[in-house]
Amino acid sequence: MRTIRRAILAVLLFAMLLLVFFAIYAMVRNRPQDLPWTRLDLGQPIGAFTGRKLAGLTDNFAECRALLQAAGVRYTILPTVKSAGKCGYADGLRFVPGGAQRVEFTPARLGVSCPVAAALSMWEWNVLQPAAQKHFGARVERVEHLGSYSCRRLYGRSAGDWSEHATADAIDVAGFRLSDGTHVSVLGDWQGGGEKAAFLRDVRTGGCSLFSTVLSPDYNAAHRDHLHLDQAERGEMGWRACR
Ligand SMILES: [Zn+2]
Repeated sequence: MRTIRRAILAVLLFAMLLLVFFAIYAMVRNRPQDLPWTRLDLGQPIGAFTGRKLAGLTDNFAECRALLQAAGVRYTILPTVKSAGKCGYADGLRFVPGGAQRVEFTPARLGVSCPVAAALSMWEWNVLQPAAQKHFGARVERVEHLGSYSCRRLYGRSAGDWSEHATADAIDVAGFRLSDGTHVSVLGDWQGGGEKAAFLRDVRTGGCSLFSTVLSPDYNAAHRDHLHLDQAERGEMGWRACR
């Protein structure tokens, strides 16, 4: 009995020491994004708790809007949609060109939930633009998408779990147009080597620290032509995936 108590105490002590060490490390290096209790700042680099904080915005539309505004992202709020089953959203918005977000989404009529918009902004600044610079020495100007909101269950089945698209908490990205005219498409460029394939893998993997779920052609044939990025509410789907 005494040994068990001692072992538990030792583990607790070790965990506390680890936490203290981690907090001091983050503060010394002036990286508030690595601390669990600091407020999210979309303009900061991606930190150890950024993904968790972004997913937490699912329950706080006002805070999510405030963060976008503070980061200089322009948007309009979409009217609430209520539809059959679990379909609909009350935290939808649309990007307005001219703000801190330099890319345009095409088609322009894109409505996404606020947490997805926040993650997309950070994805552009921390992942898309650096990857485009690295592989092509250019900027991403357009993100081509296949839509966000769609009242459907997973894979369009008639029963089973609802898709994150049913609440606008997901977006399917099909390709990119760069400032030097380069066009990269998931369908055409994922296979084979070269800079385009490397760029696509970089933006897929980079998205994994910002979105709850990222699915690419590596996952299955249903995703051969797009990257599925979603901000699933914690626990609802019961999984966090990056494939
Ligand atoms: Zn999707």
